[in-house]
Amino acid sequence: MILKNSKKRNQIYQLIATSDEHLSAYDVLRICKERGYDLSLATIYNNLNCLSDENVIKRVKVPGYEDHFDRTLDDHDHFFCTCCHCLIDIDLDQQFNPYIDKYGNKFERRETTYFGLCSSCLKKNH
Ligand SMILES: [Zn+2]
Ligand SMILES: [Zn+2]
Repeated sequence: MILKNSKKRNQIYQLIATSDEHLSAYDVLRICKERGYDLSLATIYNNLNCLSDENVIKRVKVPGYEDHFDRTLDDHDHFFCTCCHCLIDIDLDQQFNPYIDKYGNKFERRETTYFGLCSSCLKKNH
């Protein structure tokens, strides 16, 4: 059973809410260990699932890789580095506006993830 406002759940939420990065469950586990929190990977997964189901945090699916968790709830696009696995928010020049295409399909939102190498990995590899 998962307690609604358990201490563990709150610790996990605070990690996501105060991080400038998008954390995976493994990132959360690593930080918990650094801080001396006694949380298992299963507990972390359960709580991340609950928090994202309740829209307290946002799950960002990265096809082929770990899900990441984001404190920013609005729709936005991401860049994923396939070398160091960091996930970065990107600002596209073009804002997305809902529209109906020529087939009558209504496009309501966009969340795109781009893949590549981040600037620090590019520097390391050259
Ligand atoms: Zn990188
Ligand atoms: Zn984001």
